[in-house]
Amino acid sequence: MKIYITTIFTFLCIAAIISCKEATRTNGSKLKIVTTTSIIADGVRQIVGDSAEVVSLMGAGIDPHLYKASQGDVAKLSNADVIVYNGLHLEGKMTTVLEKMAKNKVVIAMSDGLKTEQLIVTNASAKTLDPHIWFDAMLWKQAMQHVGYALAKVDTIHRDFYISNTKKYCLELAQLHEWTMTEISKIPTQQRLIITAHDAFSYYGRTYHIEVKGLQGISTLSDFGLNDITSLVNLIVSRNIKSVFVETSVSPKSIEALVEGCKAKNHQVSIGGSLYSDALGDFQSDQGTYIGMFQYNTTTIVNSLH
Ligand SMILES: [Zn+2]
Repeated sequence: MKIYITTIFTFLCIAAIISCKEATRTNGSKLKIVTTTSIIADGVRQIVGDSAEVVSLMGAGIDPHLYKASQGDVAKLSNADVIVYNGLHLEGKMTTVLEKMAKNKVVIAMSDGLKTEQLIVTNASAKTLDPHIWFDAMLWKQAMQHVGYALAKVDTIHRDFYISNTKKYCLELAQLHEWTMTEISKIPTQQRLIITAHDAFSYYGRTYHIEVKGLQGISTLSDFGLNDITSLVNLIVSRNIKSVFVETSVSPKSIEALVEGCKAKNHQVSIGGSLYSDALGDFQSDQGTYIGMFQYNTTTIVNSLH
């Protein structure tokens, strides 16, 4: 009798696994994956290729900290088979919607692939962690590996394809890391300082040995004050820094105020270029991929501070 029950149970389990597989890919239909940011969408596309449909809610130049899900977005999330998001409160206002979705479907957070001790603490008492994990190519590699294997588990028909693509992409990310290390080392130590609109580059600074200062805090929700401007102006003058940077997804207002402040102290500082912080460039441009964006930022930083 016991053996009989075990057999039935095993059969039911196999049937459940098969039906689960079918649920995601009936009639040859592709797995529908919705991501929050364009940076995540690019990474997921590198893994799934043409085997799944990948849609990003936020396009080029969109700030995720301030983003609010529209009716259309909720519909896209509801229709998705899988949702991939960053986590660590990058998607500030959307977090509740994403948590709700996780009850009914596969929802993967990139940051779940990382250990807490690898993350930068931004406020110890509030226990907040820096969400801009993509600015350390090795951390992003680890997060991509987490997503790649999670997708391989969901879409078992393409399991081997996804795993092989994940491995290939991770190798490219390791090469990007090495290249960035070499490029940043070309900047003289005294000049190695990135000043931007908001604190998006702390992981970049920690990993590639360059000091970073953001006028606004970790989220673009916080405001900057006169004190911040004054202390940064003093730092720029004392270090004889030639360039500061604006960001494609954040208003340049604060950085322009900084340039004016330096002028008042007879120090010429120019805007060294636009850095991509929380969004990629246009889909068809070189900066439309994570690797292209990372290389563009690094080249812009090196050329402006060198
Ligand atoms: Zn940000």
